[in-house]
Amino acid sequence: MSEQSTSFPDGLPRVRAEIDLDAVRVNVRTLHGLAARSGAGVMAVVKADAYGHGLLPCARAARSAGAEWLGTATPEEALALRAAGDTGPVLCWLWTPGAPWRRTVEAGIDISVSARWALDRVTGAARAAGRTARVQLKADTGLGRNGCQPGDWPALVDAARAAEAEGVIRVTGVWSHFACADEPGHPSIAAQQRVFAEALARAERAGLRPEVRHLANSPAALTLPESHYDLIRPGIAVYGISPSPETGLPQDFGLRPAMTLRAALASVKRVPGGHGVSYGHHYLTPGPTTLALVPAGYADGIPRHASGTGPVLVAGKWRTVAGRVAMDQFVVDLGGDAAEAGDEAVLFGPGDGGEPTAEDWARACGTIGYEIVTRIGARVPRVHLGAEPGPGPEGGGTAEDGETMSNMKNMKNVINASDSVRSGA
Ligand SMILES: *Cc1c(COP(=O)(O)O)cnc(C)c1O
Repeated sequence: MSEQSTSFPDGLPRVRAEIDLDAVRVNVRTLHGLAARSGAGVMAVVKADAYGHGLLPCARAARSAGAEWLGTATPEEALALRAAGDTGPVLCWLWTPGAPWRRTVEAGIDISVSARWALDRVTGAARAAGRTARVQLKADTGLGRNGCQPGDWPALVDAARAAEAEGVIRVTGVWSHFACADEPGHPSIAAQQRVFAEALARAERAGLRPEVRHLANSPAALTLPESHYDLIRPGIAVYGISPSPETGLPQDFGLRPAMTLRAALASVKRVPGGHGVSYGHHYLTPGPTTLALVPAGYADGIPRHASGTGPVLVAGKWRTVAGRVAMDQFVVDLGGDAAEAGDEAVLFGPGDGGEPTAEDWARACGTIGYEIVTRIGARVPRVHLGAEPGPGPEGGGTAEDGETMSNMKNMKNVINASDSVRSGA
């Protein structure tokens, strides 16, 4: 624990994730421009703590840059937005029977429904709350994850229409999700669009008049205008990362990576040749050299798969993780170059300062940029640059929101991470 509050004389923490909110705003405006060409708006996806970038500051940045909607996976994430004073349209889509259905209905959050059991939950919650629930019906057009199968769709749609006619729910949206939009030209893309068009037509024949029809995640938002319908639903692109190398580079689309992960070296020392490095001694120094200790490990979200392969900018050059990534730290071989404790190591960032990108880490670790940024651990303070004041939790919460409120306090602390780090909190 004490390691977390260690400050170097210049006041910088051990490790920190800087979040450039100007980049988030630029990315949302860029996406908005793309969507507008198809007559669509933007639902900025802020699930999973805004892909590790910090829910509230990113949500505020997305709204101020024009995102009409916000999307979350869990109802808790959506409720956290409401508790912070966000009153705009929000959809959340990952529901289980024991989820906070009634509170979410009462908060005016759109609830995604993929099956009859979920429709029953939402109508029950709406009746209990004495309030019309906002429902978006999700079709499984081929992803095979959540969503209603085409064979079950007519019954779901008809039941939803009956509940709507009673005034219990309002079907605000019909939507679906792509499986392979990050592989442009994949035959499933056209197939899913056909199934979606059929699902929409069936919903309309049943009498539903959804305000929003949406299908396009980041790769479809960037490469497939015919899939935009009324809203694009980008997540990773909001944070300036390309969905896949096949989709293109961030700069091809005017996107800028928002997260930069920096650490202060904890040790630099000379060692003789043939010295084993880190657990298992999978790296042996090829000759007398300088080893630098980067104080971030897998507990901070650095993948252990980066052992022997992850790239880091130290003392002006790319270095490679030497040996295994440990829980709290890893080592790089500076090959005799000079550095000292407190010097900066940049693990990844936008890339224009010579540092690696999250995509470089993804390639090194056999994963995707999404996982690199999202898995950065809770122990790493997020320092938000360019934050704007927003309506605080004081405006929105009720006594019932106790847990959300304390989460919100934590988030406020994170927003002020640079202050709390300075004060050693
Ligand atoms: C995560 C998610 C998105 C955003 O996907 P990206 O590839 O990050 O743009 C959109 N819709 C759903 C249902 C999701 O789960």
